[in-house]
Amino acid sequence: METITSLASAIKKSKYIVAFTGAGISAESGIPTYRGEKGLWEKYDPNLYANINYFNQEPSYYWNFFREVRYPSLKKVRPNQGHFALVEIESAGNLKTVITQNIDGLHQEAGSSSVIELHGTTRTFYCLDCSQEYSMDEVFSLLETKIPPPCPVCKGKLRPNVVFFGEPLDPQILHSAFKEAENCDFLLAVGSSLVVYPAADIPRRAKQRGAALSIINKERTPLDYIADYVINDESGKVLPRIVQSLKGD
Ligand code: NAD
Ligand code: ZN
Repeated sequence: METITSLASAIKKSKYIVAFTGAGISAESGIPTYRGEKGLWEKYDPNLYANINYFNQEPSYYWNFFREVRYPSLKKVRPNQGHFALVEIESAGNLKTVITQNIDGLHQEAGSSSVIELHGTTRTFYCLDCSQEYSMDEVFSLLETKIPPPCPVCKGKLRPNVVFFGEPLDPQILHSAFKEAENCDFLLAVGSSLVVYPAADIPRRAKQRGAALSIINKERTPLDYIADYVINDESGKVLPRIVQSLKGD
């Protein structure tokens, strides 16, 4: 409890807070992290459905995963207390931006006003040939006729707006994320194992540039040793307590 109180008072004093989030913040919404998959998700291997070489070689694996697991999950999931708490820190404190490794769109749905999606989004698609964009609902209905689905405009190949394993991150997005890390005086890392690079360099860079670093994660991370505050617990529990403490009750 004491760590939460001192973390909240550090947040209160900060002028430019940046949150850095990973799969853990969405776990309590029912989207499994890559560690500890459950239920239907177990049928599909993230090393295959999230891998660019496999997508090129065997695209139907991704499309079947999308149809059977990803799409129904996205239609059902809602932001949890952790996502909402970050929105409250935005209004009660000085949280400026959320940099996320997640592709689920839940920060925006919760109401965060500035979100940098390092790994893209699984809610939109585009054609590799004619660049036409599609919503996930449009793509889902195409799958009823054909897998992989041809572009309705040009019959070209469609893909999700995500960064697959084996693909580089968008350099402009990465640049703006690092700029935020350099600008902030407090970096709040939440629900990330901090092992996926170059994303995990973002909290490290913030710390090197003089920001305070706090890590909220269920398990220990390789950056705990440089952090000013470490809380190993669920973000849906911890973040609302920080908000309570910020509001002084
Ligand atoms: P990760 O799966 O490597 O790590 C998630 C971390 O969250 C783990 O260390 C785990 O201990 C912790 N965790 C689990 N439940 C938690 C909770 N309730 N509260 C706090 N922490 C909790 O995920 P990562 O670090 O984000 O990186 C792996 C990659 O996985 C990223 O590239 C990301 O794009 C992708 N991914 C995204 C989603 C999503 O969009 N929701 C889901 C799975 C994986
Ligand atoms: Zn097309």
